[in-house]
Amino acid sequence: MTMQSLWFVRQGHLEWRDVAAPRLGGDLEALVQPIAASTCDIDRLIISQPSPFKDPFAIGHNGVGRVLEVGEGVRTVTPGDLVAISWHISCGQCDRCRRGLLAHCRQTAPGTCYGLPGRESWGGLFDDVVRVPFADAMLHRLPGGVDPVAFVATSDNLTLGYATVAPHIKAGRDRILVLGWGINGLYVVAFARALGARSLTYVDDDTANRETATELGATAFPGPPDRGMGPFDLVVDASADPKWLRGVMRLIEPESMVECVAHLGDVTLPGWQWYGTGATLHCGLCSCTGPHVHETFKAVGSGAVVPSKLWSERVAWDQDLPAAMVAHRRQLVAVRSET
Ligand SMILES: [Zn+2]
Ligand SMILES: [Zn+2]
Repeated sequence: MTMQSLWFVRQGHLEWRDVAAPRLGGDLEALVQPIAASTCDIDRLIISQPSPFKDPFAIGHNGVGRVLEVGEGVRTVTPGDLVAISWHISCGQCDRCRRGLLAHCRQTAPGTCYGLPGRESWGGLFDDVVRVPFADAMLHRLPGGVDPVAFVATSDNLTLGYATVAPHIKAGRDRILVLGWGINGLYVVAFARALGARSLTYVDDDTANRETATELGATAFPGPPDRGMGPFDLVVDASADPKWLRGVMRLIEPESMVECVAHLGDVTLPGWQWYGTGATLHCGLCSCTGPHVHETFKAVGSGAVVPSKLWSERVAWDQDLPAAMVAHRRQLVAVRSET
């Protein structure tokens, strides 16, 4: 049996392909039909400019779906359940998974995930059906009472927004600067506001992004980050602009935190200034769904974070999705008509 799968073919070009429909491969597995899927900043980068990822490949790693079938060993979900699907393939049982590092599972090759090329291919979350090898670790039942589409980016961006700021705000680092470009910076703004940031500054050259950040409660400016700003206890760099990252060392309190969630290229930092001020720079994959998913669900369920305010396009699955993906401005959400 075949199914439809959305493929990134080359810069500026996507297409639907007929591929073999997946089947259950073991007792711990599930088959899930994505009912909504969205782009991520990395998809927009890949679609719009040269990237290190080798084409072609099935695209999409943010999605929610309906469970179709489960193996006999699956305990936490049953057919019919609506679930968020983890972007990373993770067993939930190895030492790293047990430490919450689900994006670094020892049972898979590094970087194994949906929607990007790698040594293993698991398809993308715009596919008609996806195979989930470790259902208990990778699927999370959605809370009731909220449109399931609201949780579409739980796999990555939505949960990343929570995970990037929550530990720092809890530790009192609550004067926050966000450097934005796409969707990730705006989810960070939404969670920073929901979690009680004392001050929230947003820098982005995109006018529409600044307007959204302002609606979410940030004070927004065009770039670059300026000497008059700050001081900040936490900087989140979602801009992918190395010059902006270098500039923030002047704007922080001593021994502050800088979180990077965007860079694909090389970055250099002003070493002497960095040494003199003291800053911890963290850059790394977010093990999104595991350790943080329930707090993320709570924030959306309570209305403290409303993801649809951040999306740039919500489209029907059966419209010309390849063209819509190429044209999308920030985060495109595609929804199947059954929902
Ligand atoms: Zn992503
Ligand atoms: Zn593992």
